[in-house]
Amino acid sequence: VPKFLVNKDGSLGARNDAPCVSIEHKLGIKASPTAVLQFGDHGGAVGYLVGQENRGLEYMFIMMNAARYGVGLQGVAIAERAYQKAVQYAKDRVQSRPVDGSINASAAIIHHPDVKRMLMTMRAYTEGCRAMASTAVAAYDAAHHHPDAQVRKDNATFYEFMVPLVKGYSTEMSLEVTSLGVQVHGGMGFIEETGAAQYYRDAKILTIYEGTTAIQANDLVGRKTARDGGQSARAIATQIEKTEGELQASGTPAALAMARRLAAARQAYLDVVDFVCGGAKASPNAVFAGSVPYLMLAGNLVAGWQLGRSLLVAQDLLQKGQDEAFMRAKIATAQFYAEHILVKAPGLRDSIVEGAESVTALALDSF
Ligand SMILES: Cc1cc2nc3c(=O)[nH]c(=O)nc-3n(C[C@H](O)[C@H](O)[C@H](O)COP(=O)(O)OP(=O)(O)OC[C@H]3O[C@@H](n4cnc5c(N)ncnc54)[C@H](O)[C@@H]3O)c2cc1C
Repeated sequence: VPKFLVNKDGSLGARNDAPCVSIEHKLGIKASPTAVLQFGDHGGAVGYLVGQENRGLEYMFIMMNAARYGVGLQGVAIAERAYQKAVQYAKDRVQSRPVDGSINASAAIIHHPDVKRMLMTMRAYTEGCRAMASTAVAAYDAAHHHPDAQVRKDNATFYEFMVPLVKGYSTEMSLEVTSLGVQVHGGMGFIEETGAAQYYRDAKILTIYEGTTAIQANDLVGRKTARDGGQSARAIATQIEKTEGELQASGTPAALAMARRLAAARQAYLDVVDFVCGGAKASPNAVFAGSVPYLMLAGNLVAGWQLGRSLLVAQDLLQKGQDEAFMRAKIATAQFYAEHILVKAPGLRDSIVEGAESVTALALDSF
């Protein structure tokens, strides 16, 4: 539906009946104008069919799948920016004495354990989601360019499974991270001057456009899990189990902590995959009541798995004497993720498998 109609000789003709009647006022992403277009109020807009009739949705999904991955990355990017800003502020803002008495005067707030907890949460979520997105896109490359047809097929299946996780989990986590970014700034976070609030406002669109989190979760439940009877979902769990074995063999406290939490999260995930596959047809309301929690569990597990892999690489490079501070930070961040974020997986499993009824129990007129 072009803005201007084009004459037969290629010159610009009359305006099409599709004017922009206003610009929306939005919560965030204000530098990206969203227009209200009015179609056909003055005689009818002219549109042209692109491609074949009835294949529009199929064509649209080529763009949509790439866009969903891209929006997931926007989540990682805005979370990283919020983290960097929060670290800067936490090192600068002086408030209260440290509880351990290490400084006998008010100190920068980064000395307080709860501020460290917030910064570690921001960092761990962001690194986990970035690692998940990188693994997904490496599979995309292999799916298109690997010489072996079977490897291409396996990677295509893996990538397809990852898309709702990268979109859904990374964007939901970006909301938590940008909210924590505001919290680290205290009252100044609520004041626009610091810029922390803008990340929070801008992040909110990410869980909405290119399909809301619930739509990603429907995709994960229907097309990505139930359709092949849970085969792709379980294949990922098998790969995770292999990483657990490598972590166990490494035997360091950080690797053992990660192996233990990964195993519990993987078991929780497998229980949910069984629940989804067993109930998708017979009790759809029960399964879809837990669709978003399932997406969060799967995203949490896969991001944690990638941090488990990065922990092993960092340990190895540390032993070889490479970039000590960086490697130690990788290991500490992975252990934090295991002990503070991966641990949420068994709780999500309980909500999904045992808590479906209370989601739908209330009669409509009781709302
Ligand atoms: C700033 C901005 C820019 C945009 N840009 C574009 C663009 O360039 N191109 C474009 O085509 N669109 C664009 N959109 C539209 C955007 O993709 C949709 O708003 C979004 O996909 C949600 O659809 P909806 O608004 O119809 O919400 P609804 O579908 O009405 O959803 C409302 C609520 O119901 C839930 N819900 C709906 N259906 C289901 C279901 N089946 N199962 C479970 N829950 C469900 C949703 O998760 C949500 O919580 C834009 C929107 C905004 C705000």
